[in-house]
Formats: sequence, structure tokens, C-alpha cells
Amino acid sequence: MSHNPGAPWAFTLTIGGRPVAGGPTFDVINPATGRVVAAAPDCTREQLDEAVTAARAAFPAWAALAVAERRRLLVSMADAVDEHTQELAGLVVLEQGKPRPVAVAEVAGLALWLRQTAGLELPETVNQDDGERWSVTRRLPLGVVAAITPWNYPVGQASFKVGPALLAGNTVVLKPSAFTPLANLRLGEVWRDLLPAGVMNVVAGSGSLGSWVTGHPGFDKISFTGSTQTGRKVMASAAQRLARVTLELGGNDAAIVLPDVDVKEVAPQLFWAAFANSGQICLATKRLYVHEDVYDDLACELVRLAEQARVGDPSESEVDLGPVSNRRQYETVVSLLRDCRDRGYRFLTGGLPEDGGGGWFVAPTLVDDPPESSRIVREEQFGPVLPLLKYRDMDDAVQRANAGEYALGASVWAGDPEAGQEVAAQLEAGTVWVNEVMHLDPLVPFGGRKQSGIGVESGLAGLLEFTEPQTLSVRRSRR
Ligand code: NDP
Repeated sequence: MSHNPGAPWAFTLTIGGRPVAGGPTFDVINPATGRVVAAAPDCTREQLDEAVTAARAAFPAWAALAVAERRRLLVSMADAVDEHTQELAGLVVLEQGKPRPVAVAEVAGLALWLRQTAGLELPETVNQDDGERWSVTRRLPLGVVAAITPWNYPVGQASFKVGPALLAGNTVVLKPSAFTPLANLRLGEVWRDLLPAGVMNVVAGSGSLGSWVTGHPGFDKISFTGSTQTGRKVMASAAQRLARVTLELGGNDAAIVLPDVDVKEVAPQLFWAAFANSGQICLATKRLYVHEDVYDDLACELVRLAEQARVGDPSESEVDLGPVSNRRQYETVVSLLRDCRDRGYRFLTGGLPEDGGGGWFVAPTLVDDPPESSRIVREEQFGPVLPLLKYRDMDDAVQRANAGEYALGASVWAGDPEAGQEVAAQLEAGTVWVNEVMHLDPLVPFGGRKQSGIGVESGLAGLLEFTEPQTLSVRRSRR
């Protein structure tokens, strides 16, 4: 089924393998125009109960299924995603506001993650196997997993959770952000007939659905991606019944540029490190520490790139950068820009947006060496604004990069990669890159340190987050 232009779009929740509509709806807004693109079904408390009941009922048979069969079904899910790439990407463009090629890559990423995850093996360790005892430790699924995702990569965020949760033998209730429910609801429809009823449920809702999910006694595990502030609430709620949590939270990633870089070569990489998806990436570069010897040249190149970037409505024309994805985030970004202006920090390009046009557009903005104590340096902007920060002494740069509560990612840019590696080894972050950034791989775990999260996603370590070890010990000798 693909959308027939002119016909109203009807989205349904997926609960127990069935489409569930009816009841209340909520509006989904196109951030490029401010206009409503669709009405999404607003999951009620009773419908959430039904989804959890369906997932619980499906769990024993799914967990007992041969792992080879679960692998096969994950690959079928990937094939179905491939068949619907253009349609799913179109929904992401409309509800999230990113350029179409970025949305297509996001959907392709889901298929890739499902396929690569399908190839992972759950380890089984034989601890002892002799005349006295046979002892083995294996990994068992947890039960019903709640997967809660943010709006910046609605499909991409699901890919880090759905495949590993299912492969490990859990059943899932996926809850996307109310800002971007459509592509996820459509995924529920696309996968509905592939999997046994109740294995994969998709719900969406405005208001309190997130807190209903985390407070629901029927979930054994909450896999959450979102802000640090909400992550704390999720953990507090899960603690009431010791539900397991994985928390992928906010970041304020630093990049350190050494004086021996080729400025023209690194400038485009650094520009996209900060501004891809209009800066709305957890692992985007959010603070750029530049050695004073190359500060002016690099700033000049970045200004040129910012002024060349085409900003606009991604569903109407070819653009490099779409709008900020929703009014709430737009207001956060504008508040940071206002603070910069009021304190007299200099914008090298961009600045406070002018009102009008209906969409939540902010031009790519560079802030010239604001103080370390400023809000734009200390807080996560999650938008198209980048502070450039000058340093002279490397220890000082490292100390400033490591300051603050976040520790998600970081990068170092150096002409000599070995020198870059030495600096990288001193940075506190879940992932540190040298001469690249945001490179993710389905087989490599990533996650945050400090207040950027607990646990990891992707790779074997990400798969193990959806399991618990159980040791089976059999005494063979009687003495
Ligand atoms: P939020 O924390 O506001 O929301 C994340 C999800 O949690 C949404 O589905 C939201 O639903 C839901 N939610 C909101 N309140 C609660 C609650 N009390 N209990 C349970 N769930 C709740 O984050 P954003 O969506 O604004 O995403 C941006 C943030 O996510 C940034 O800080 C960014 O760094 C971080 N992020 C981290 C990543 C990582 O891998 N570490 C990756 C991407 C983003 P609803 O939207 O419907 O309210």
C-alpha cells in the first residue's frame, strides 16, 4: 500500500498483529510549513494495555522459536523495508523535515541494521564440563521490551532497538515520538503479516503515552533514546519494579582541531559534522575547539560553506538543510541564539531567524569564540548553531572538551593521525573518532558515558542488553 495523493492518509496502531484505529487522533505537523500533514491514532491507556497483553502472550512461543527462524524473519523485515524505502522516506521528510536523500539513507540503515543484527550469535559459555559437573552460562531474553525513540531519526532510532530485541527472543512495543509517529506506524503495517501476532506492536500517542509506557508493570525492559532529562524520569519509573533500562541520552560532543590540519580538506567534514540533519543528531559536533594558528582560516571556510548551504522545504526542492524539526526544539534553539545576541557574542554567519514563512527555519549559525561558561557551550543546542572556540594549549583544549555532564562522542582532527590518537586517548566519551566523525556500524557498540547514558546499542554488546545470563549447573559426581 502506498499513499494515493489526494486521499486522506489513514494510519493505524499495530496491536496483536491487527490494525487498530478509531478513537482519538492527534495532528502531525510538517516543520517546513507548520501545516498538518496527517492525523495519527492517539493510543489510549486501554490500547496500551492490549499491546502489552498481546506482547506477553506472544513471548513464550517467540522465545522458544529456533534462533535460525528469528534470523530469517529479521531478514524478511529488512526486505519489506527495502520494498517500501521511498514511501517510508517520504513520510520521514514530511514529519521530520530532513532532505530526501538523508531520509532514504536513514531507511536503508534500518534494513542494513536488521540484516547485520540477524547474523549475530548469542554466546554460550561452558564453565565446566568434567566428571564432577557440567555448567553452562547462556543468554535468555528478558520478556516484553518497550522501545521509546526521539524525533530526529524516527526510523533510524528504531533500527538500534527492534532487531536486537527480537533476535534475542523478546517481543516489542515500539513507541515513537508524537512529533514523528507516521513512518513508525507505517512500519508496523509493513511488518504486520510477516511476524507472529503480538511479537511487534507499534503505538503512538500525544500527551502522556511515554510515561504510561515506562510506568506499565508489563514491561521487562525499557530501551530509551531521548534527552538526559527524560532519561532520568524513565529510570526513576523503571526502578519501581526494577525493569531493566538502556538509556541513550543527550550529548554535547566536542571536536578538537590540531594546528597541522589541511584547513580546506577538513572544513567540509567539520561543517557536516555539526550541521547534517540541521544539527539534530545526538553525535553531531556541538563544540568546535580550534587551535589559534588555524582558527581564522577555518572560520572563514566554515562561513563560506554555511552561506552556500541551501536551506528550505525538503519536500519542495533540493535542499541541504531542512527546518528545525518541531516548534519546541525551534524555541530551544532560538532561546540559545537570543542569549548569544544579548550577551554580545558575535555571529560569524546566521543568527536569530526572522519570523514568517510558517516553517521553523534557522540558518546555519557560527558563534565566534563565546566564553566557556556561556549557554551555547554548556548546553546541548540540538540545532544548526555551532560555537567555535579558540585554544592555544592542548591540555587546556582537552580539559575544556571533557568538561560538562555529557560524554557521548568526540573527535580529533589532525594532519598526523598518531598525534590525533594521542589526544583522542585523553577524551572522555563513549566513542572518540580521529579524522572522521559519526561513523556507526551495526556490529560496533555505541553509547554514552557520564550523563549521556547507560548501556550501549549495536554489535554484540547491544544485543546482550536485551538478554540476561542464566547459568545451568549439573552435578555429575555424587561426592
Ligand atoms: P525527549 O526526551 O523529549 O523524548 C524522547 C522520547 O521519550 C519520545 O518518544 C517522547 O515522547 C518520550 N517521552 C517524553 N516524556 C516521557 C516520559 N516522561 N517518560 C517516558 N517517555 C517520555 O527527547 P527528544 O525527542 O526531544 O530528542 C532529543 C534528545 O534525544 C536530545 O537530547 C538528543 O541528544 C537525544 N538523542 C540521543 C541519542 C543517543 O543515541 N544517545 C540519539 C538521538 C537523540 P513524545 O515526543 O511523544 O513526548
